[in-house]
Amino acid sequence: MKKIPIRTCIGCGMEKPKKELIRIVRTAEHAILLDPSGRMNGRGAYICRDPACVRKAWKTRGLDRSFKISVPKETYDRLEKEMMALADE
Ligand SMILES: [Zn+2]
Repeated sequence: MKKIPIRTCIGCGMEKPKKELIRIVRTAEHAILLDPSGRMNGRGAYICRDPACVRKAWKTRGLDRSFKISVPKETYDRLEKEMMALADE
């Protein structure tokens, strides 16, 4: 039996199959971006396809903990908007 890769959402903390989550990447230039393709270079974190989980991640500083850096609220706000745009597709 093939093992399904499981990742934990940095917002709600639920464990889900990797393909149901969206990757967030921190690039070598320290930009933090949504990575719907899951193929960008850099350190990755995973989050549900849900703007609400971005807001939860802000409350728990989920990105800060994943990337071990201080992530400003503007970054979370931008990710939330990008997530809403994705959800509209
Ligand atoms: Zn979640």
